[in-house]
Amino acid sequence: NADAALYQAKAMGRGNYQFYSEEMNARTLDRLTLESGLRHAVERGELQLKYQPQIDLASGDIIGAEALLRWHPAGQHLIMPDAFISIAEETGLIVPIGEWVLRTACAQQVAWRRAGLPNLRVAVNLSARQFRQPGLDAMVARVLADTGCPPGRLELEITESVLMERPDSAAQTLQRLSDMGVQLAIDDFGTGYSSLSYLKRFPINALKIDRSFVRDIAMHSADNDDGAIAAAVIALAHSMGLTVVAEGVETARQRDFLRALHCDQAQGFYFSEPMPAPALEHLFIKGEASK
Ligand code: C2E
Ligand code: MG
Ligand code: MG
Ligand code: MG
Repeated sequence: NADAALYQAKAMGRGNYQFYSEEMNARTLDRLTLESGLRHAVERGELQLKYQPQIDLASGDIIGAEALLRWHPAGQHLIMPDAFISIAEETGLIVPIGEWVLRTACAQQVAWRRAGLPNLRVAVNLSARQFRQPGLDAMVARVLADTGCPPGRLELEITESVLMERPDSAAQTLQRLSDMGVQLAIDDFGTGYSSLSYLKRFPINALKIDRSFVRDIAMHSADNDDGAIAAAVIALAHSMGLTVVAEGVETARQRDFLRALHCDQAQGFYFSEPMPAPALEHLFIKGEASK
């Protein structure tokens, strides 16, 4: 705690006291600056989406993309979501920001289709606060209608913890979204405490295996347990009729291992980093040309 740290620093001498208190001030200031900046980020046009291609492992084709949020305040460096999503959550700013993300991603889905790309799927992350926001389903319906994005081409990603907290109301919300034809995926699967059988009660379509399990794959020799968790998750998810997406694929070995286990889809730096929409369009066209 801050008081204890200060007390300790004081005891160590004046120089240390200065050091500690300045660092703490910088941290509080940072948060306040982020918070007030974030308040105006949407209207100032400082938010951007990058898109990370999602690959069908059997064919190697790009079948969709996950929209990933970036914040670029004027005259500053690009800020990654881990640095501001939790502040947006706590302040409730995630609600308008999340609607901007959804609208932008759905409009991009339609733009790609008009540009001659096939009907790519676009995946959008929903935070806990957004998921519990009353009227979420109405908001999603409105955005789909406004943009013309087919509901089946939108996938919403939520984490296990969101389902665990209030399972009954979560199931109702998911059912309403599912009835609209929207696809639903569990993100970062394996990092929470839910079991696959627990997930049976929710109308979900896909599981995204967290990248920590993908990282375990084929790290050492071929004859040990590496990738055992990924293998088990893929088999069980398939037995439940779920599509499996592997996150964080960084090497050809990981891809080969996942493909051998019939993992359906994958994303990761091995295929592509998150990129601006025009770059994804380029990558897609290049892929088609090399066939
Ligand atoms: P996530 O949804 O699990 O997204 C995957 C993250 O892994 C992304 O980080 C992506 O850039 C990164 N990644 C992709 N491939 C690889 C790889 O091969 N290796 C490694 N090490 N990392 C890889 P990013 O873009 O920094 O996003 C971090 C998290 O922030 C996301 O995790 C998601 O939880 C959250 N987030 C991003 N955009 C949004 C948004 O629009 N709304 C909400 N609520 N959350 C968002
Ligand atoms: Mg995600
Ligand atoms: Mg994830
Ligand atoms: Mg994550």
